[in-house]
Amino acid sequence: MSAEYQVHGDVAVITLANPPVNGLGLATRQGIVDGLRRAQQDAEVTAIVLTGAGGAFSGGADIKEFGSDKSLQEPNLLSVIAAIEASPKPVVAAIHSVCMGGGLELALGCHYRIAAPGCNVALPEVKLGLLPGAGGTQRLPRVVGVEVALNMIVSGEAVKSDMLGALPGQKLFDKMVASPEALAQEALAYARSVAGTRPLPLVRNLPCKHPEGDAYFQFARNMVKGMSKNYPAPAKCVDAVEAATKRKFADGMAVERELFINLMWTAESRALRHLFLAERAASKIPDVPSDTPKREIKSVGVIGAGTMGGGIAMNFLNAGIPVKMLEMKQEALDRGLATIRKNYEAQVKKGKLKQDKYEQRMSLLSTTLDYADLKEVDLVIEAVFEEIGVKEAVFKQLDAVCKQGAILASNTSTLDVDKIAAFTKRPQDVVGMHFFSPANVMKLLEVVRGKQTAKDVLATVMQLAKKIKKTAVVSGVCDGFIGNRMIERYSQQAGFLLDEGATPQQVDKALEKFGMAMGPFRMGDLAGNDIGWAIRKRRALEQPDMKYSRTADKLCELGRYGQKTGAGWYDYQPGKRDAIPSALVNQMIEDHRKELGITPRKISDEEIVQRLVYALVNEGAHILEDGIASKSGDIDMVYLTGYGFPIYRGGPMHYAGEQGLFNVVQAMDRFAQNPRDDQAFWQPAPLLAKLAAEGKHFS
Ligand code: NAD
Repeated sequence: MSAEYQVHGDVAVITLANPPVNGLGLATRQGIVDGLRRAQQDAEVTAIVLTGAGGAFSGGADIKEFGSDKSLQEPNLLSVIAAIEASPKPVVAAIHSVCMGGGLELALGCHYRIAAPGCNVALPEVKLGLLPGAGGTQRLPRVVGVEVALNMIVSGEAVKSDMLGALPGQKLFDKMVASPEALAQEALAYARSVAGTRPLPLVRNLPCKHPEGDAYFQFARNMVKGMSKNYPAPAKCVDAVEAATKRKFADGMAVERELFINLMWTAESRALRHLFLAERAASKIPDVPSDTPKREIKSVGVIGAGTMGGGIAMNFLNAGIPVKMLEMKQEALDRGLATIRKNYEAQVKKGKLKQDKYEQRMSLLSTTLDYADLKEVDLVIEAVFEEIGVKEAVFKQLDAVCKQGAILASNTSTLDVDKIAAFTKRPQDVVGMHFFSPANVMKLLEVVRGKQTAKDVLATVMQLAKKIKKTAVVSGVCDGFIGNRMIERYSQQAGFLLDEGATPQQVDKALEKFGMAMGPFRMGDLAGNDIGWAIRKRRALEQPDMKYSRTADKLCELGRYGQKTGAGWYDYQPGKRDAIPSALVNQMIEDHRKELGITPRKISDEEIVQRLVYALVNEGAHILEDGIASKSGDIDMVYLTGYGFPIYRGGPMHYAGEQGLFNVVQAMDRFAQNPRDDQAFWQPAPLLAKLAAEGKHFS
């Protein structure tokens, strides 16, 4: 039973006890109903207090029941609330710490509410593409007013109980207590004070109106439309709250129910729920239990103060962890330091960072030219040139000076982490920490697990990632790890499309319409086309039979590396980032087609999107087969947080499932017929073929 029942003289106390946040799972719901029954049967009891144990009143739905029928099993939340409303003895919700989602809906069903200050109050369902489905849209406007309620429901953001308690005319909290510590006693006293009140007040009986009515809801609709283009839920929240103001309570509840069920079936909500679960699952590594002891990271060393080193250092400074940065020359240190300052100063100018916070962060940063200064740090992250010889020199030095137990990490994007580990006598302490550029901004961190990386090293790095607010995903060692290994296939397809008749603009537009933050060619110009060029040159030696379009090489031969050289697939004006279609590049593409003897054909946007996205999917399936990623949700997290894949599509692997893997394989068969394409690549990965045949998804 996940709710406790105690009697304090004439007051029964039902305490939700389902750690960590008293999620309203089946056992907890059953516990509430049982507690109510016992309280009714006990003639001594005159009033009931409902509260939560530990650090929450209730955080709402139980994640463990997510997407399963268990959340609907009786007593479901609506039935629990009905039982509370029907209780002949008053039920007082004693609210503290966290009161969210179903937790708030439960409290709104109680006859009275008494709250502690500092409690986070929210209806966050919209963040999962849903709306509150147990009366939240009908009851909240009745107690805090239509506008406050709608803002909370549409944004999903938490508001402090003190702020809500101070709203003029609010009926959410019948009483605010002075401190969380005083809540239990005050709740008992309050329950006694209302024990004899009849009839008992119900939120559902309160009036609900907006003085401007239609005009206000029209305004709200316009606002929501502009802000949430690809998400249907916010507009439905407006509909539900409007129903609260225009219909009888029971009819409003029916509207809420219908809208809720419809939203449950949208692809957007499925994607958001997938993301919610995948994000939590990503931090769990199958063979590394969550109670694995962690090493303490109180200070960090960063080798190399270039593009990546500076950004990496900022992550730790922001989290209050001191950083020592090492370079070969003082000038390089000065340059790196100046860039970090410039980044922080820009934040100060924009009002995003207070001056004293900026100074505090800078005070945590020190620099050195001497490896001996790194002998006390708990973690070192290397971000020097991408050359194995340079990495070797650095790791040998680190091995010589760093204390026992220090974690030695490399930010390499392409080199073999096992090889790097072998430069030391402590390969168990070596791990890859692959940040994405700009490292102080991008959420993704690929944690590269070497053959010998110790479990406690992995557990430590995963925990640290949370501290620096990154989404960490574990990848095995392979060329390109998860993200770049897949993107190579995506770029390969983009190249073939140019040869066959598309322009960079058409390809970019199609992908951007699909929802990618940037099409492949704009992305190439931003990251630097020379990076892919270097990889293709290496590939030509290692895998000579892999097919590529030569257009990207030709572009690089012209020195058009992208924004950094002022020209790439597009032209750029000095100091600006707007991509201007380039007549020269389009001519180059046409000339190349002629050389190949290709008559250009009209290619549909649908084909463009399918070829690029399914290229990601097939390589993703190989990555799963090879054990480089342990679950498909990890691959989705990489693409959602590091590559601008649209959130509302849930990542490439989830998206493939939405399309139906059978259909994905059919499309791949069609692409394999195209003589210009890489027929070998379009052989579905065995895992993909098997799942498609079984009618299953990746997750
Ligand atoms: P960069 O050229 O901007 O910076 C490298 C810095 O390392 C330079 O300041 C250089 O002076 C310093 N350095 C070189 N050898 C050194 C040594 N022996 N000791 C101390 N300092 C030394 O390069 P970057 O873009 O920051 O890349 C660094 C690493 O990060 C590479 O391994 C790269 O593959 C990886 N990476 C880069 C990106 C990116 O987008 N730039 C993204 C992810 C990972």
